[in-house]
Amino acid sequence: MDAVACLLPQDWMTARETRHVIQAIERLGGHVRFVGGAVRDALLGRPVSDVDLATDVAPDAVIARLGQAGIKVVPTGLAHGTVTAVHAGRHFEITTLRRDVEADGRRAKIAYTDDWAEDAERRDFTVNALFAGGDGLIFDPVGGLDDVLARRVRFVGDPARRITEDVLRLLRYYRMLARLGIHGIDPASRAACRAHAHLLPGLSGERVRSEIERILAVADPRPVARLLEEDGILAPLLPAAPGFARLERLVPTEPAADWLRRLAALIDGGIAEAERAADRLRLSRHETARLVALAGPWGADDVPVGEKACRDRLYAIGAETLRDRALLAAAAGADPDGRAGEAVAAAAWMERPVFPLRGRDVLALGVPRGAAVGRLLAAVERWWAADGYRADAAACRERAAVLARAGG
Ligand code: ATP
Ligand code: MG
Repeated sequence: MDAVACLLPQDWMTARETRHVIQAIERLGGHVRFVGGAVRDALLGRPVSDVDLATDVAPDAVIARLGQAGIKVVPTGLAHGTVTAVHAGRHFEITTLRRDVEADGRRAKIAYTDDWAEDAERRDFTVNALFAGGDGLIFDPVGGLDDVLARRVRFVGDPARRITEDVLRLLRYYRMLARLGIHGIDPASRAACRAHAHLLPGLSGERVRSEIERILAVADPRPVARLLEEDGILAPLLPAAPGFARLERLVPTEPAADWLRRLAALIDGGIAEAERAADRLRLSRHETARLVALAGPWGADDVPVGEKACRDRLYAIGAETLRDRALLAAAAGADPDGRAGEAVAAAAWMERPVFPLRGRDVLALGVPRGAAVGRLLAAVERWWAADGYRADAAACRERAAVLARAGG
């Protein structure tokens, strides 16, 4: 196969650890080439973070050779020929050339091959099926170069067949559009996605999450979100997430991209639906708590006006939630006077007050263990908050003593 173009040397290609991994695998024969997002993004002049490698060396030999070179290897996807080398803090996914013998929509039965073109055929999109040698020479078995330059995301082979083989490709299609832009849409690819959206519920939560996260995390997900809506792609996965208009208004107001806040904007139905979405996407405990804290309805409370109200809200829910709920409230139309920016600013500069009294302080006053301790603490806290969070520990103890005497 002849090279069709050449990448100029770039840091991620020439980095010592990259060279070291490639040399370790090629040492006893065989070849390693860059593939996937690294080649695609490099051709677009974008930064490359994640480096995927393809090789005609069998996985056992890849593991052995890396091991001999003292490079750590993790068998991350051995069943489909992928191992991950971890070297000097960088991760390299290395996949042996393969073809998919049988695909049932989830798991493919595979066979290894030494034919680069065959490996390109089993990849999802032409823009992801370009190989680049360590010297930068580019090989293009399925016509991906023209598509990269036109920013056109096209399935390799028949789109409908490729989607039924692995439905995740349908979501990956929108992820690639989110990355490359939606100008050069290939009508056949898009039509096949629309027609197969009903298959999406069969996907595992982890796989769905990873793609949705990456779609929502791009700098501006609005164009692709419009397509998701028009094509009915999100509805089969997250039926309670029709809030595209909110997302549309949220994005230009955000201090930085934040996929979870954007997901919160999409979800209707309050805490119950936020919990259900978190479950569907297998979010971590921390992420679930955050999504629930950001759940609607959003209202005037979320846009506190004035320093006192902002501080009260900050004390109650914390800076991050104050900021996010103010942004969401504005996006939901609950900020008719345009004051959300003040709450967002307060969240950035105001310090969250810390209540200086503990249970042991109350016990030290001779209050017996039990519900009375909590009641007294809460009463002092209300007094302290109403007074602008100014009273220090000594003043709060004094207040507690007064209340304890009055109560006792
Ligand atoms: P990113 O820059 O986000 O890493 P990527 O294109 O490299 O994008 P990966 O998920 O890292 O995406 O996958 C690496 C490559 O493996 C893809 O470019 C594609 O060639 C192939 N690939 C990944 N998932 C699939 C799939 N479900 N079906 C076919 N090929 C796939
Ligand atoms: Mg990648």
